[in-house]
Amino acid sequence: MLFDLRKVHGDREHLQRTFEPGSFDPPDEDYRVASPAELSMDIEKADTDAFRVTGHVATRLELSCGRCLEPYEIPVDSSFELRYVPQVENAGEDEREIAEDDLTTAFYKDGALDVAEMLREQFQLALPMKPLCSDACRGLCSQCGANLNRTMCACTPTREDPRLAALKGLLDRQKEN
Ligand SMILES: [Zn+2]
Ligand SMILES: [Zn+2]
Repeated sequence: MLFDLRKVHGDREHLQRTFEPGSFDPPDEDYRVASPAELSMDIEKADTDAFRVTGHVATRLELSCGRCLEPYEIPVDSSFELRYVPQVENAGEDEREIAEDDLTTAFYKDGALDVAEMLREQFQLALPMKPLCSDACRGLCSQCGANLNRTMCACTPTREDPRLAALKGLLDRQKEN
């Protein structure tokens, strides 16, 4: 969805919209938008061709657990503040204009702001470093592949965790005393 920046008359323009998950197709490989994204944002004219965008987006993203590979959802409830400047054709990374304030600089093209692209950027920022369905997720059995959160398989652990072995030794010794 493109927002025409020429519509920003006067000081500020308010935009309130709900984006169905399908608006973000094709899905990113790291997540899938699982519920409608509620966006509320204000676009303000900054200097000549720069715009300041302050907004908030709420939705749910479906990720895949890094241990058990099962899908699970996380809520997204993010506020953002960006400075949009026109994209200069063939501009290299170092030729980009440096903003005077601390705002993250984003680029618009042909007088329009790509709202879906801006939201994808926010979703990406909301992703956890390591996606886990739960901190206690037990993952998959390395031998039979069973999801250990759901079943107890009959495989015997190939190797005892050295830390557990040390702890067991300590407990045994305490029992003897
Ligand atoms: Zn998991
Ligand atoms: Zn197993």
